Amino acid sequence: MSTFTTRLLLAQIAMSRSNTDKIKAKVKSNQCIIDGCSRKLRSRGLCEKCYQSYRQQMRELSPTEQIEFERSAIEQGLVLDNGEMGKWKKQATNRFANLAAKVVG
Ligand SMILES: [Zn+2]
Repeated sequence: MSTFTTRLLLAQIAMSRSNTDKIKAKVKSNQCIIDGCSRKLRSRGLCEKCYQSYRQQMRELSPTEQIEFERSAIEQGLVLDNGEMGKWKKQATNRFANLAAKVVG
């Protein structure tokens, strides 16, 4: 599977996850998306500590396993897809984007 196809699939999974509203609210308030963690965001929706755990776990897997691991993590809302955090934070600072997001749902 090409990198592009993989990225497209991950974006689709991210859009169809069930807890997006909840994690989006945490991102907008600059908090890590992991349940029970409220540390400041660093990358992919996670704080420094949670992001390091994610990377550490990733390093222990084979390339094929890494793809499945990332897919599952995005699907369960344990990590964000590339670009989601920036997109959501930008929305939080732009009233019109906020309004548009509500209209689109
Ligand atoms: Zn965290």
